[in-house]
Amino acid sequence: MIFFASFGARGAGGASPAFCRQKGSIAMLYQMKNALIRFMYGRNGSDQLARTTLFTGLGLNILAMLLGRDSHLARIFTAAATVLVIYTFFRLFSRNLSKRREENQKFLQFFRGIQSGVAGARARHADKEHKYITCKNCKTICRVPAGKGKIVVTCPKCGAQIHSKS
Ligand SMILES: [Zn+2]
Repeated sequence: MIFFASFGARGAGGASPAFCRQKGSIAMLYQMKNALIRFMYGRNGSDQLARTTLFTGLGLNILAMLLGRDSHLARIFTAAATVLVIYTFFRLFSRNLSKRREENQKFLQFFRGIQSGVAGARARHADKEHKYITCKNCKTICRVPAGKGKIVVTCPKCGAQIHSKS
């Protein structure tokens, strides 16, 4: 009887019950996707800062797992990871778009600052013909020729005298 019914269904609809089930679960996935899209409408969603805080949180969790339960550092990492993940979700679902965008921009500026700082330090390290001296007064980096012995440099920005060796 069951065989007959399934045969009948196949004959009438052209689809096996297994296929119907699959179709049903795909429809459910679409419904879930639509529900998620509706839920996220007007919310901040993912941005560079959210991805960074999420992956940093996951990374800290992995480190904590590697360190083991007894480690004091692991407990600190787990706590920091939890805070980061909660912060990530708060930003993902936030409706205050201008504030979240401002945070992301600040983060990007900070990140680019680090990148250019690293690039600059590398370039200065590669330059063997000059010595780079940082002014203690205004933090300006002054470039002087290398190999001149003891020198006194006048900062071009603030006029402070810097005693150094080149
Ligand atoms: Zn200076």
